Amino acid sequence: MIPGARLIVLGKQGAGKGTQCVRLSRHYVIPHIATGDMLRAAVKSGTPLGQEARRYMDAGELIPDEVVLRMVGERFDQDVTRERGFVLDGFPRTVNQAERLDELLEPHEIDCVLNLKVPTQLVLRRLASRRVCVDCGTNYSTSDRPRVDWICDVCGGEVIQREDDTEAAIKRRLDLYEVQTKPLISRYRRQGKLVDVNGNGSPDEVTDRLVRAVDAAKRTAFFDPRRHAASGEGQ
Ligand code: ADP
Repeated sequence: MIPGARLIVLGKQGAGKGTQCVRLSRHYVIPHIATGDMLRAAVKSGTPLGQEARRYMDAGELIPDEVVLRMVGERFDQDVTRERGFVLDGFPRTVNQAERLDELLEPHEIDCVLNLKVPTQLVLRRLASRRVCVDCGTNYSTSDRPRVDWICDVCGGEVIQREDDTEAAIKRRLDLYEVQTKPLISRYRRQGKLVDVNGNGSPDEVTDRLVRAVDAAKRTAFFDPRRHAASGEGQ
């Protein structure tokens, strides 16, 4: 395994993106950039960004592109993301965000876009039972609880049901996913970067499928002279 990768994970709410992105981030030694977690942290600490974001999030609406792009741009400047890569979770979510991401990354490109596929019936069931740590974002469920009641195993934070995991907000987010995020799937498919991955199975099974898909994409990218010329790598 060669460390480093520039990855996007797409998938409906409740498809398991959060859990799988943490695992991919450890496997490839890359930062996990989750816009939802960043926004929830801003809401919790009451920053101006958080105050602005809160009303959109509670209603299940998307935050305006400019706000999210500024936040992601700052995160990209912070650490190793430029050289080593990242796994993006919850971003991009609109075609405009995807186009702006390409500009932010230049001269590099995304290596692989993983489309985690799970039937809607299953995500609805998962979302109703989802619980999350307010401090580190680790996911649990009513059938996979922390060892001590509602205290996070990882950091000791409080484990709660997210305020936007109400039936109405979930429905709104799934509708928005169809309208705004699905066109990204066609965009990345046209670019030859999209890989469909079956998200139905145990977390370990799904991780194995994802890692196999990423390794195959990295091998292809490594042998593609066009991409080396574009990114300045491999010289
Ligand atoms: P989910 O995938 O369940 O919607 P997330 O944690 O990814 O959960 O996002 C929670 C909320 O944060 C979204 O409903 C939206 O309001 C906001 N958000 C996260 N990422 C973005 C983004 N890329 N663009 C706009 N809004 C976003």
